[in-house]
Amino acid sequence: MKSSKKSIRLDKIFNSESTTSNNLCKTNTAQPTIYAEEFRQHLYCKRILYWRRIAKVHGHSTYLMEKGTTYHNQREKSTYVRSDAIQVYHNRYFYHEDYNIAARVDTILEYEDHISAVEYKRFYHFPSPFKSHIIQCIVGGLAAEFELDKPLTSIEIQYYQGKRSQINLQSEYRKKIIEILAEMREILTQQILPLPVKNSKKCEVCEYYKICRNG
Ligand code: SF4
Repeated sequence: MKSSKKSIRLDKIFNSESTTSNNLCKTNTAQPTIYAEEFRQHLYCKRILYWRRIAKVHGHSTYLMEKGTTYHNQREKSTYVRSDAIQVYHNRYFYHEDYNIAARVDTILEYEDHISAVEYKRFYHFPSPFKSHIIQCIVGGLAAEFELDKPLTSIEIQYYQGKRSQINLQSEYRKKIIEILAEMREILTQQILPLPVKNSKKCEVCEYYKICRNG
C-alpha cells in the first residue's frame, strides 16, 4: 500500500487551549513517576488516573486494547530502520529525572545533534493525530532527550496502512506538557475524582467502564 506522510504544526492542534503553567511539576521524588501511557489516558479521560493510581482498580482489557497490543507486537517484530539516523532505539525505557516522567518508547531516532520520537498507533486520525497520541509521543521523547542529552526536535505518529504524521516541535510544547503534568499531579496529591467525560461513547470502550459508570 502506498505510504503517505503529512507534516503538521502543533499550534494548529492546541491553539484553542490555555497554556498556563505552574510549578507543580517540579521534581518531587516523593511523588510517583508518571508514565507517557498515563498522559495518553489522561487526555482521553481525566478520571482514569484516579482509578489507576488512587483507587488502584485494575481495568478490564477491552477488544480495542487487545487489537492495539497485537498491532504493537507486530510492529516490534519488524525492524524500523532509518539510514540517516546514527542510532535507533526500539521499545526502550527512558526516564526524565527532573520531571519525574518515564516511558517505554516505541522508537527513538538519534541523529548527530538531535533526536526524534516515533509512536505506532493502530487507530489513525489523519492528517492531524489525536492529541493523546501526540502528547504520549512527546513525553517519551522528552524522557529520551534527558537521557541521551540531545534535544527532541520532532515526533512522528505512524499508523497502519503506511500513514505517517510528522510534527516539528516548537518551544510551546514543553509548556503544554508541564501544564498537563501539573494537572495530573494535582489529581494525585489532592486525591481528586474528576468529572466523567461528556461523550459517553468513550466510556463504552473504556477499561474502567464497569467500576466507573455501571455502579
Ligand atoms: S468509564 Fe468514562 S468517565 Fe469513567 S474513566 Fe472511563 S472514560 Fe472516564
